[in-house]
Amino acid sequence: MSYICQTCQHKGKQFPNGRCPACDSHNIERLTSSGEQIVKKKRSRLDVILLITFWALFLYAIWKNFLQ
Ligand SMILES: [Zn+2]
Repeated sequence: MSYICQTCQHKGKQFPNGRCPACDSHNIERLTSSGEQIVKKKRSRLDVILLITFWALFLYAIWKNFLQ
């Protein structure tokens, strides 16, 4: 388990008291074991609309290809 500082991008396992040892910032995030930043699961409304639009167009294209 490691962390990254969002202020100075310092990465490390030791962030005593939830503070960055390099710049003393509280703005830190947890990283996964592979070093990737955890993607927030919450989608914005625009993301959902774009996703639905994309799928609608995609399915429409398939339907048109097979039925016409
Ligand atoms: Zn920092």
